[in-house]
Amino acid sequence: MNAFELYNSTKVVFGEDRVSRLGELVQPFGKRILLVYGGGSIKNSGLYDQVKAQLAGIDTVVHELPGIEPNPRLSTVNKGIQICRDEDIQFILAVGGGSVIDAAKAIAAGALYDGDVWDFTIGKAVVKQALPLGTILTLAATGSEMNGNSVISNWETKQKRAFGSRLVYPKFSILDPKLTYTVPVNQTVNGIVDIMSHVFEQYFSLTTDTPLQERFGESILLTVIENGEKAIANGSDYNARANLLLAGTYALNGTLPIGVVTDWATHGIEHEVSAIYDIAHGAGLAIIFPNWMKYVYKERVDRFVQFAVRVWGVDANGKTDDEIALEGIEATRAYFTRIGAPATLGELGINDENIQRMAEEATQFGPIGSYKKLAKEDVVNILKASL
Ligand code: NAP
Ligand code: FE
Repeated sequence: MNAFELYNSTKVVFGEDRVSRLGELVQPFGKRILLVYGGGSIKNSGLYDQVKAQLAGIDTVVHELPGIEPNPRLSTVNKGIQICRDEDIQFILAVGGGSVIDAAKAIAAGALYDGDVWDFTIGKAVVKQALPLGTILTLAATGSEMNGNSVISNWETKQKRAFGSRLVYPKFSILDPKLTYTVPVNQTVNGIVDIMSHVFEQYFSLTTDTPLQERFGESILLTVIENGEKAIANGSDYNARANLLLAGTYALNGTLPIGVVTDWATHGIEHEVSAIYDIAHGAGLAIIFPNWMKYVYKERVDRFVQFAVRVWGVDANGKTDDEIALEGIEATRAYFTRIGAPATLGELGINDENIQRMAEEATQFGPIGSYKKLAKEDVVNILKASL
């Protein structure tokens, strides 16, 4: 196990009807609020009205930035930054999924930065200050509700990039499982795949002697596998939605990477696909992850054997390590297919046209990943296997 620091400053307020706490949670941060949300799901569900009533109850001035896109765009983030400056905003409230929360984080950091917010994603600047933000999460997927990461797309240059900062951890996140009842099946599936992928990125590690971290990861995977199928079968199953929501938060709130060298190559590759084709993050991951697994498993077969046996219940009797590992990978693929996630880029209308470009972009700062360091040609191979 390696040395580590653990930090998380987000207050999580979890449970049914917790939106009733919103006014009291926002109050310490000021009166001038920017409310950020997406394409309308919060209006259809009635959540928007509840939020407005809570904010009116503490006598705030509320400005709104609706229309955050899935794969939030730099141009929209810039609109929010402008509102913050023009209206002297004191607090940002994000209501929605990971895209809305990520956009709110970029706005929070960009509003107090004298330059282009994109600089944070390309390493040209680090966040030195940010407006405080809070969230009401409506979709179990990214973990953005309890971390300092933000992923933004630059639609003009077709790039998707991330930045991270301790200064953009949400001050609070309200997680009410009932708010996720209206998530359609396809987005529920994308969320399940994203959560499992976050675990994979931290579980498939060359670091040894980390039994607790590995079991944390396995428990999240088992919880998601069981409850994901229940939530798909019945979108209003409270316990399934609650367990999925909690699993999503824990998969990426800093619990899993402690003392471990993590990978993140597959996320890097997927971001290049989303940047050009604007596909859902979870859909891209469902296609690429099993192919990454097949490409790298020999680097450390025992971790894949453990995964196969503990997570998928593969019977190891009389089989070689390679056979067991491959059965675990096939079980992963079969689960993704069973819940309705795509298996090939072709299903999403993507051909080999941009493979070189995506591989070039993914590796522009050198090889990616750690389980197996992937150079451009490796990324090309994984993308070709994903066609
Ligand atoms: P999302 O892009 O925020 O939302 C996807 C869709 O689901 C939207 O159309 C949204 O509609 C809808 N939706 C959300 N909640 C709903 C509800 N309760 N009922 C009905 N529809 C609902 O999805 P996401 O998977 O959470 O976020 C994906 C983004 O996060 C990607 O850009 C990805 O790269 C990024 N990401 C970030 C992190 C991180 O740590 N920050 C980690 C992984 C991925 P509306 O727009 O109408 O609300
Ligand atoms: Fe992700």
